Amino acid sequence: MQKRVSELFTQSFGSEPKIITRAPGRIEFIGNHTDYNGGTVLGAAVDCGLWVAVSPRSDGRRRWRSAIGDTVVETGEALTKLEGHSSWINYPQGVIDAMQAHGLEIPGGFDYAVESDLPVGAGLSSSAAIELSSALAFLELTGQEVDREKLVKIGRKAENDFVGVPCGILDQGVSGFGKRDHLVFIDCRGPDFSTVPMPGGAHFWIFNTHTKHALVDGLYEARHTECMAAAADLGVKQLADASLELFRQEMHKLSPTVAKRARHIIEEIDRVGKTITAMEAQDLDAVGRNLTASHRSSQHAFENSTPELDSLVDQLTTMAGVYGARLTGGGFGGAVMALTDARFGAAEADQVAQVYRSRWGADPQVLHMRTGDGAEVIQSNQA
Ligand code: ADP
Ligand code: MG
Repeated sequence: MQKRVSELFTQSFGSEPKIITRAPGRIEFIGNHTDYNGGTVLGAAVDCGLWVAVSPRSDGRRRWRSAIGDTVVETGEALTKLEGHSSWINYPQGVIDAMQAHGLEIPGGFDYAVESDLPVGAGLSSSAAIELSSALAFLELTGQEVDREKLVKIGRKAENDFVGVPCGILDQGVSGFGKRDHLVFIDCRGPDFSTVPMPGGAHFWIFNTHTKHALVDGLYEARHTECMAAAADLGVKQLADASLELFRQEMHKLSPTVAKRARHIIEEIDRVGKTITAMEAQDLDAVGRNLTASHRSSQHAFENSTPELDSLVDQLTTMAGVYGARLTGGGFGGAVMALTDARFGAAEADQVAQVYRSRWGADPQVLHMRTGDGAEVIQSNQA
């Protein structure tokens, strides 16, 4: 990928790039809808991501090129929100906006190219990857360094405020703090970030259904409202403050629906803890049981699964080599992740895809991934 982004840069701008950075995509491993409840979540940075190549220009022009668009787009130093084919430039422009808001020096003119081996919109957070790889490139251009927390904050602010997507801290946190053979643990109350070693030999398989519930925004909002109502009824500030014991004692005060939502969140936070304990014990079978239990809770209690996702989990969990499977991300469509050993390979994934196709008449997108490292500067040879 380093060669590809370098070539795209040279083709587009006629010289070699001075700086190359990369940032990975991520998988939500376990911790479903826990972020806005002040809970905990585990994510994995993957071995696919976005690569950014830049060189400074002295004339204040900014020229942008992505392999997903077909032309070089030019902007000036004033940030302007773009639409249509060029709207991807709002992500790196948002990073510049966020750097400014953090009191950092911002780059003037530059040439910029981006390449990716991460599919867009597969729930793997290509948006966080473009934010973090861009932020590192712009910091390098201006000779500045920031700590990981700030890098992650800049990426999130770019997406929340400039692009206008209200994402939580998982995406940027994992892309920033990711480490090969580790998971990233985030306590959303801080937020605090740390890494947890992953036992060797684990593989991720993603089955993206490309489905999205038509009412997904409204459903998200409804779950958010239900969770806030549950916290109020239980007498806590947020659901992360409610223990399982408190929940059992006080659940009679909640309507049946609100109680189901609260149970999902409170048990899910508990499952995140159990998953870490199981990883420390190198017990991937127990990790997998927690993953599948998370899915079943989504299916029956939080009701953010779909029949398509359920059918994938039903099938995967009967197969040899599969530790566990669950929907990954917000739900109401999207993708299922399976944690497997090496016995589950391309032939087995194909079998899953075939059964899915015969039932639903569409192919899932199948991706095989391992853990990967967090955002980094790959090359920097500024004069
Ligand atoms: P995801 O789940 O992949 O993060 P989002 O909708 O949040 O999906 O973000 C996808 C957006 O990120 C794309 O629409 C595009 O604007 C930007 N993006 C992703 N990959 C690239 C790329 N290779 N080049 C330019 N922009 C990209
Ligand atoms: Mg995204």
